[in-house]
Amino acid sequence: EDSFSFDTEKFSLLKQRIERSTKICLLSHTAPDGDAVGSVCGLCDALRSAYPEKDVQMILPNAIPRIVADLPLAKEVLIHHNGTTNQEAERVLLDADLICCLDFQSPKRVGNLLAPILTKSKAPKILIDHHLYPEENFFELSFSFPGMSSTAELVYHCLQGMGLASAITPNCAQSLLCGIITDTGCFSYQSESPRVFCVVADLLSCGANKTLLIDQIFHRNTTGQVKLRGYVLDRKLQLIPEIGAAYFVLEREELESFGVSDSDTEGFVNEPLAIEGIYYSFYIRRRETYLKISLRSSGDRPVNDIATKLFGGGGHKNAAGAEYPNPDEAEKVAQMILEEIRNRKKI
Ligand code: 5GP
Ligand code: MN
Repeated sequence: EDSFSFDTEKFSLLKQRIERSTKICLLSHTAPDGDAVGSVCGLCDALRSAYPEKDVQMILPNAIPRIVADLPLAKEVLIHHNGTTNQEAERVLLDADLICCLDFQSPKRVGNLLAPILTKSKAPKILIDHHLYPEENFFELSFSFPGMSSTAELVYHCLQGMGLASAITPNCAQSLLCGIITDTGCFSYQSESPRVFCVVADLLSCGANKTLLIDQIFHRNTTGQVKLRGYVLDRKLQLIPEIGAAYFVLEREELESFGVSDSDTEGFVNEPLAIEGIYYSFYIRRRETYLKISLRSSGDRPVNDIATKLFGGGGHKNAAGAEYPNPDEAEKVAQMILEEIRNRKKI
């Protein structure tokens, strides 16, 4: 995982594709995180600065979380569905002559409203992503590096590979660093390689402001968020020390009583891993018609395969997610996951 062999030929193809296109659309996944927003905004900024004559647009399926809403360019992203459907986003996606798919590996991940439009589009699709098991044949050209810290880091390598280093403006660097910091939990995981730090060093030289990012991402919780975190740890956490696991379930009403939205509970699931002897953590919450499951682990204890095997979900080795169709079966889902962990040799 330490050193990637980049195919210089593929970077030339990517550059060719970009240079031949006039309307480029950059797209990422539902419930966008700092890496989704950071890689889309970072690439957009670089392409607009390298090719000012081109029309480069960004689309996200739904709203940008508060913590990354202040990223450069974040306000220019077309949000497809935020209570109502944004027709302009659909038009931009359908009119694009090149679609770059960032930080997701399958068209399903843009959600059931955008996926049919993405699938219908005849524009060539480029994959730039670090998730396992990409749907390769959906994409004309694919940059899939599951060992990479973040999609944002991969965007950096793509820009370098295309000879566009000079397009890494301070705003671009800021967005890319946001993706790296988000997806590595501020360099806690998926950042074992010195390569990540070389990229970060260069992004800082290009003008990224690390202190501001750390402040925006980690120090801007609402009072409700911090109190909800306390409530979860004090009242809701289920510990199963025999198998090194912990989990919690949150009801919609509990989130509402703290004035916290689903996307603002993002980091909570990592918290139980701070307990000595806890190596697996998962979090289940109800959404409209289904359950959303987030799984985390430490060390060599994959959870993406648990998500895939039990629920058809996926993700990374230590951070995965899935959906479960019956919103009333949270406890059953919890027991299924615990059983799967119990059956694994290594705790
Ligand atoms: P989170 O728990 O933060 O929502 O997701 C953690 C990781 O799992 C992310 O990298 C995300 O891409 C992946 N993931 C989350 N939900 C799903 C899902 O429903 N299906 C798949 N295939 N991956 C998911
Ligand atoms: Mn990512």
